[in-house]
Amino acid sequence: MDRTTFRGFLAGFDWAGVERRPYKEDGTAPFRSISRQVLFSDPALGCELRYFEMDRGGYSTLERHEHMHAVMILRGHGHCLVGAEVRPVATHDLVTIPPLTWHQFRATPDEPLGFLCMVNAERDRPQLPTEGEIRAMRQDARIAAFLDGRTPS
Ligand code: MN
Repeated sequence: MDRTTFRGFLAGFDWAGVERRPYKEDGTAPFRSISRQVLFSDPALGCELRYFEMDRGGYSTLERHEHMHAVMILRGHGHCLVGAEVRPVATHDLVTIPPLTWHQFRATPDEPLGFLCMVNAERDRPQLPTEGEIRAMRQDARIAAFLDGRTPS
């Protein structure tokens, strides 16, 4: 069996033959203006490589889980929350998300933010924060500003 794949890069951060999908298919988690493309997914590989893209001002779900993420920003800039830290991120920066660590990515208002995300093929379901957990996170002014989309670019 020929398992070779070659998919050309297209204008607009699409790849030939790769479907751009809604971010969460079950519609249960809060997020805004984000799409998902699965670039590599082979049972023999044990991991998947996906490309996520947020429109201007968009954000991913605030969540945590046992599995890890390894992220490389491919397009634009924004901020990420990882645990207790809010950091600016820009094209080609690398971010790892440790197990059971709250995380969220937010695009700046002026341009889309796109990133590659490597993840285990078999993984646990993301957990969403309770109201009490969000209140606790908001004790940190920088995290509160981030969650409200007020982080300066
Ligand atoms: Mn995640």
